[in-house]
Amino acid sequence: MGKMKGAVIIDTERCKGCNLCVVACPSNVLALSTNEVNHKGYAFCRDTNPDACIGCASCAIVCPDACITVYRKKAD
Ligand code: SF4
Ligand code: SF4
Repeated sequence: MGKMKGAVIIDTERCKGCNLCVVACPSNVLALSTNEVNHKGYAFCRDTNPDACIGCASCAIVCPDACITVYRKKAD
């Protein structure tokens, strides 16, 4: 099976900045915003390194508020 490539869509307005997804990601794709907050006042999660995403869905599984949707496709 070929390598998997992934992409995440983050519902930044629902994110509460708990950092669980950032820690759970094995590829260091995610980081909390450092210069912006959402309407709730939280630093929110971003995919700062999207090319590294392997679509493993660990981030989506750990997010307590289901803010992350993961898409997967074969890399080649
Ligand atoms: S799907 Fe996996 S590799 Fe991609 S951002 Fe989420 S935890 Fe990281
Ligand atoms: S786990 Fe969910 S709520 Fe927590 S920082 Fe990540 S996206 Fe936001």
